[in-house]
Amino acid sequence: MAKVNFTDTGMVRPVDGLGRVVIPCGLREAMGIEPETLLSVFADGAAEEILLKVYHIKCLFCGAGEDLTDFSGRKVCRSCVAALGDMASEVGP
Ligand SMILES: [Zn+2]
Repeated sequence: MAKVNFTDTGMVRPVDGLGRVVIPCGLREAMGIEPETLLSVFADGAAEEILLKVYHIKCLFCGAGEDLTDFSGRKVCRSCVAALGDMASEVGP
């Protein structure tokens, strides 16, 4: 179970007509959220809770966050690409 460590910021923001909510500037700066930062959205309808979590793109296989390349629309790190290449050459055509 993930550790829960949330603080009530005391901030209340309205939802606009398009369903958007502005994350206050100070909070964005404190969390390193810039334009185009990806956020995952989690919801608990029964509790009326929505959680936004900074989304980090990771390697499909090992979870590394750096030196990534695309493979069939998925991110794979170069180390895993090399390991897969080695495995493919051992197995043969
Ligand atoms: Zn990897």
